Amino acid sequence: MGDDNGLVIVYTGKGKGKTTAALGVAFRATGHGMRTCMIQFIKGSWHYGEMSSSKRLEPEFELTAVGKGFVGIMDDSSPKEDHEKIAKEAIRISKEKILCGKYDIVILDEINYAVNLGLVSVDDVMDLIRNKPKNLSLVLTGNHARDELIDAADLVTEMREVKHPFQRGIRAKKGIDY
Ligand code: ATP
Ligand code: MG
Repeated sequence: MGDDNGLVIVYTGKGKGKTTAALGVAFRATGHGMRTCMIQFIKGSWHYGEMSSSKRLEPEFELTAVGKGFVGIMDDSSPKEDHEKIAKEAIRISKEKILCGKYDIVILDEINYAVNLGLVSVDDVMDLIRNKPKNLSLVLTGNHARDELIDAADLVTEMREVKHPFQRGIRAKKGIDY
């Protein structure tokens, strides 16, 4: 079935489901004994369920959060330089994971937000795409994916918000949102 070439996959759009779609890919691939590494940009101050459940899928699935949490909202008290520094570190780790040959799939979760916040440049992300091993699939998530990334991708899905409980003032739910 298919060929050995990896895909560049983008999950973007305002609707909910981008990170959970990427987690679905990791869950599915694990079932084939494939190796997936997810690097979560920006996230880091909250505890998301996947940070624990991923441990049950090790060593096939590895998840690392490299961030200080929300940038500029909520409980954020860190200067922008700190966020920038840590996002650069996340890019460095991503490059290492992409090139090390150990993984079939690398997921860069919320990287589109890191680009839009100006924490990393779109060229940094394009470099990761250009230099990835041929057979590795790369998944990029976050709303407002840049045109360059959409052009470079093989598969782009835009989540469209039809309804979200937040519109009725319902806050993030355990197991659903985090
Ligand atoms: P998920 O992680 O649930 O798949 P996502 O990756 O599509 O969501 P993000 O943009 O990463 O969404 O936003 C993260 C948080 O914001 C999650 O708690 C998510 O449920 C919530 N969220 C996502 N979409 C919306 C929306 N349209 N309105 C309000 N909150 C949202
Ligand atoms: Mg997300």
